[in-house]
Amino acid sequence: MRPALAKAAALEMARILVPRGIRLPFPLSRSSAGPGGGTTSIFLQIGETTVRLEVERDADRDRRTGLALRGSGGRLDIIRGGRVLARDVRVRGAGLHAPGQAFINLHDRCRFGCAFCNLPVSPGKGLPARRWAAIVRGALAAGKVDAVAVTTGIPDTPSRACRDIARLVRSVRRDFPSVPVGVEPYTVDEGDLRALRRAGATELKLNIQCATGAIMRRVCPELDRDGILENLEAGVRLFGRGRVCSNLIIGLGETDAQALRAARLLARMGVAVNIRPLRVNALNRGPLERALGGRPGPPDGRRLLRLSRAQKRIFLEHGLEPGSFRTMCHRCTACDIEPFADL
Ligand code: SF4
Repeated sequence: MRPALAKAAALEMARILVPRGIRLPFPLSRSSAGPGGGTTSIFLQIGETTVRLEVERDADRDRRTGLALRGSGGRLDIIRGGRVLARDVRVRGAGLHAPGQAFINLHDRCRFGCAFCNLPVSPGKGLPARRWAAIVRGALAAGKVDAVAVTTGIPDTPSRACRDIARLVRSVRRDFPSVPVGVEPYTVDEGDLRALRRAGATELKLNIQCATGAIMRRVCPELDRDGILENLEAGVRLFGRGRVCSNLIIGLGETDAQALRAARLLARMGVAVNIRPLRVNALNRGPLERALGGRPGPPDGRRLLRLSRAQKRIFLEHGLEPGSFRTMCHRCTACDIEPFADL
């Protein structure tokens, strides 16, 4: 099977059984933000593509339908339903959250109740910002990562969270003047973006999240969609065309046409969308069902491939090159079918 097809099939399953007997060359990665917040993940390289999957350590699921990692002596295969889905996969080091990057979540409390996000229902044990700065600088100094990205929950106001990100960016910049730094805030105030740019951030991710305003009102009722779109335009002016990206979550009841209309709207502004499959887990299932009035529909592999091909055409039409990002998800590529990198 071609690596992109195997990756799509793996993303559709979202989780993999990694039996405790398998010795891994790198520690598992722990996510603290978004739908994967609080879960443990593994990065697996299939051919030239990389996929991030949530990890189960005990075989309490039906192994005939789930994914499992199998192997010994350094050779690992991904198995699905008793058959090999991908041979000779390699475990990649997770950096700090993403291969090659220190991608940290500054605040793990959030006052906004987006239904897909685990932060509001699962506040972890957040570190103080000063401690994060030391960890990031240490990882850069040791050569474990060569790029930095910062996201955050919003415990108080968006502007205050942006000031905290800016402080961390400045503190990294003092010792590492040329390291690429991506920031992923939530703000509808252009002044916050200017402050982040002044602090030394080089790339911006500001998430539109949902394909339509109607879905957004149900899933992220406290976020300001028009304000996000205005600030994405401002972000392109401040950071540059092709240096701004935005998550669009698939599986919230949108049609392909609605998703691609949103992707085109962003592309016209110079924003490179990340088409992100919804991940449903024990923490976000209830909030999602209440918000959507029914079961959420994470996309299957075929839909992901179809949307990614269309996304690639949109990028080509608008001269967007996701491969030029030095930070965040267009660099990492492990959660999505990434145009150009994967197909
Ligand atoms: S694609 Fe983005 S969210 Fe997924 S692991 Fe990589 S950096 Fe994290």
